[in-house]
Amino acid sequence: MPRRRTKIVSTLGPATDDPKVVDKLIDAGVDVVRINLSHGSHEEHAKRADHVRNRARACGRQVGVLVDLQGPKIRTGQFRDGPIQLAEGDEFTLDVAYPIEDGNQQRVGCTYQQLPQDLQRGDKLLINDGKIILWVERVDGPEIVCKVRVGGELSDNKGINKHGGGLSAPALTDKDKLDIKFAAEIDADYLAVSFVRNADDVHTARQLLNDAGGDAAIVAKIERAEALHVIDEIIDATDVIMVARGDLGVEIGDAELPAVQKKLIRDTRSRNKVVITATQMMESMIDNAIPTRAEVFDVANAVLDGTDAVMLSAETAVGKHPAIVVEAMARICVEAEKQSAARKSDHRLHSVFGRIDEAIAMATMYTANHLKVSAIAALTESGSTPLWMSRISSGIPIFALTDHVFTRRKVTLYRGVYPTSFQPVEKDSQRINQEVVEELLRRGAVRDGELIIITKGDFQGIIGGTNVMKIIRVGEHILPD
Ligand code: PGA
Ligand code: MN
Repeated sequence: MPRRRTKIVSTLGPATDDPKVVDKLIDAGVDVVRINLSHGSHEEHAKRADHVRNRARACGRQVGVLVDLQGPKIRTGQFRDGPIQLAEGDEFTLDVAYPIEDGNQQRVGCTYQQLPQDLQRGDKLLINDGKIILWVERVDGPEIVCKVRVGGELSDNKGINKHGGGLSAPALTDKDKLDIKFAAEIDADYLAVSFVRNADDVHTARQLLNDAGGDAAIVAKIERAEALHVIDEIIDATDVIMVARGDLGVEIGDAELPAVQKKLIRDTRSRNKVVITATQMMESMIDNAIPTRAEVFDVANAVLDGTDAVMLSAETAVGKHPAIVVEAMARICVEAEKQSAARKSDHRLHSVFGRIDEAIAMATMYTANHLKVSAIAALTESGSTPLWMSRISSGIPIFALTDHVFTRRKVTLYRGVYPTSFQPVEKDSQRINQEVVEELLRRGAVRDGELIIITKGDFQGIIGGTNVMKIIRVGEHILPD
């Protein structure tokens, strides 16, 4: 089976707590695990992250850890006598002054005290991912009096979104600030910030993380309508964009999602950043052992759109067949990647390069795509050379060779990039080249007679020092650079 380029992010949860399941997930090819701080305690999450890292190490694999903050998800309170039934035309009141556990058929509390100030008559509220729709009739102090447009069963702690966006809640709650410290403590590779509104939210999260001693890459989850209006600034501020289709679809409308997903992926890649496509990709596999045809198409289309990674949420966290879902997703990615549209790129054909290492990365991809090259070996400190390389679509594997475990874990998310542990024994360039060739041979990435490209710096160990691109035919004698 060809090497899969698109990466798989899998959410951990009760369904993955069995050590056997974790081994099967790693075996099935999980690249990054997601810890969802909307549920569970720090203690159980730390245990999960630790366990996955230990098992990955035992299997000789790299698995990144992504910590996902809950963010200001606005929720209803609880109901005194269990779920209620709302029918079209009923009057129903959200009351931020009402006791949070005391909801009844007429009213319920709400977690966000500012909600009445953000609303006015005529606004449309979507409860429980839009399954229930309320019209705001009037706002009266702490009370939001609504008319039910679409009814249904309403149970405890259901999410509330406003159609069109515009709820004022800041992206980082007090809980998130504590959770950022936790992410630093467990040395997370990625920190995902929920409900990002603008670039400042990203900067603030990064600052808090750095203050806590963490240096995870930041993932900005795009799930608010207003984030789309300042998306270029957000992309430039962040390391990774997540197309968070769940909440985003509720805010902007489900029919808008496909076009927005395509644009987000295109814009993110063209600004040299990484992108994850998330939510409901294999939803039916929470229960079933095979995906629906629509899910197969969804995953394949995200691959063709150019996403770096596809994500699983409840499918693996609480689903019945976590490893089978990952296997199915992997299989779909590999087939989709065979299409020529997944390998072609006109990215940066006309752009000017600002840095020497960036220019080497681009020259390598141009050469690799026009000469018959079997593999690229990027000797890297921070992972930025393979990141630039992987923004150019191609079918050629990019091996990120580094002795920094942090860099190896970071590149787990980059499409077409494979983390490779590499500590050259010798210092002179001729011997290092030989060791690189041997490493690729050992991994079955190349055969005698094939071409590879090596990139590296004159002086190993310097970030941003890549200034050499060398083409080598495997098996032939290597001369000094
Ligand atoms: P969530 O984010 O799963 O944390 O809600 C993803 C989404 O909204 O799509
Ligand atoms: Mn969300």
